[in-house]
Amino acid sequence: MPAVNIGLPHAAVRVPDAPATDRPADDRLVDRFGRVARDLRVSVTEKCSLRCTYCMPEEGLPPIARERLMTPAEIARLVGIGVRDLGVREVRFTGGEPLMRADLAEILAAAREAAPGVPLALTTNGVGLDKRLPALLAAGLTRVNISLDTVDRRHFADLTRRDRLPAVLAGIEAARAAGITPLKVNAVLMRETLDDAPDLLAWAVGAGVRLRFIEQMPLDADGVWSRDALVDAAQLLAVLRRRFVLTPIGRDDPAAPAEEWLVVPRGTAATSHGDASEPAPMGPSGPATVGIIASVTRSFCVECDRTRLTAEGTVRSCLFGDDETPLLPLVRAGEPDAVIADAWRAAMWGKQAGHGVDRADFARPIRSMGAIGG
Ligand code: SAM
Ligand code: SF4
Repeated sequence: MPAVNIGLPHAAVRVPDAPATDRPADDRLVDRFGRVARDLRVSVTEKCSLRCTYCMPEEGLPPIARERLMTPAEIARLVGIGVRDLGVREVRFTGGEPLMRADLAEILAAAREAAPGVPLALTTNGVGLDKRLPALLAAGLTRVNISLDTVDRRHFADLTRRDRLPAVLAGIEAARAAGITPLKVNAVLMRETLDDAPDLLAWAVGAGVRLRFIEQMPLDADGVWSRDALVDAAQLLAVLRRRFVLTPIGRDDPAAPAEEWLVVPRGTAATSHGDASEPAPMGPSGPATVGIIASVTRSFCVECDRTRLTAEGTVRSCLFGDDETPLLPLVRAGEPDAVIADAWRAAMWGKQAGHGVDRADFARPIRSMGAIGG
């Protein structure tokens, strides 16, 4: 397979010599470029308790009528088909903010029954998580990612348009106390909070959580993202290195989006000579590390194994592709699993090669991140 460079450093999407035109007899979610989707993201709502500027408009997303949202039983039906018939191996619930669904524990319990043994994960902003966590864990939740961009309260309030940093920290503390490991915290790289990155990393090392920085993608509802304003991984590394010695250790596995770095604070005995020969501080799941997901400048499209369902039960094969295949009407029409599974396979077959952010003709997708499910 030759590599097609899509213009960014290291970004390459492998494509077959002649693009495949016929869908092979394969039960899994394969696409024309030979990728197989196994990681299912299910959005459960468009509502949110925050208004992050890189995601939501100030007034929130237009509300989805209640009858258009998937119910717990409908979500479970699709999760079951994904796992049993299509090879899905992990299911992550997202949004909007999934904690805005009062029936989230019911959704998890139904998904757990439909897909026993499959990891059920949550991506959340953490607001209110402390109160909901026991019920969610009892319903079958196994993994949690929490989003936090800065530990500076004023900067947090500016970026999220809500003064809720204490609530997020309470949510993270509850997840940590519940023994969820590894507990991952995701931070979007923004110019306004770049100088806060060392404090955030110091906090993460102290709290024993795995911090991962993510380059901002052009998926903000306000449409103000621009290439020139992008804070990239290289700029982040320069800022972090003022306070930490960082040693690259690669990826957890080749398909993992985050490149990992060992972290040792400067000025400690370990680093006073500018080297990192001493061990990094230990967290609950090993030495302190930081991950960088360079989703724009070092696209991982070539390894992408994701398939997404919007809150209205529509398959979205790529964050950046506007092609959508509604499955909910098939579910509501009482179609058998085989028909729904085949519609899902057909949707994924059409997945585009890569995000194309570097191309002159790049067009932003119509939906913003919160309306897709990140
Ligand atoms: N509300 C939950 C949260 O914030 O974790 C779940 C939904 S949110 C859309 C999922 C993830 O997408 C979050 O980690 C968020 O930081 C990230 N995200 C949102 N907009 C983004 C953007 N424009 N670029 C990169 N990541 C983004
Ligand atoms: Fe809400 Fe998450 Fe989007 Fe922030 S990133 S506005 S918390 S959905």
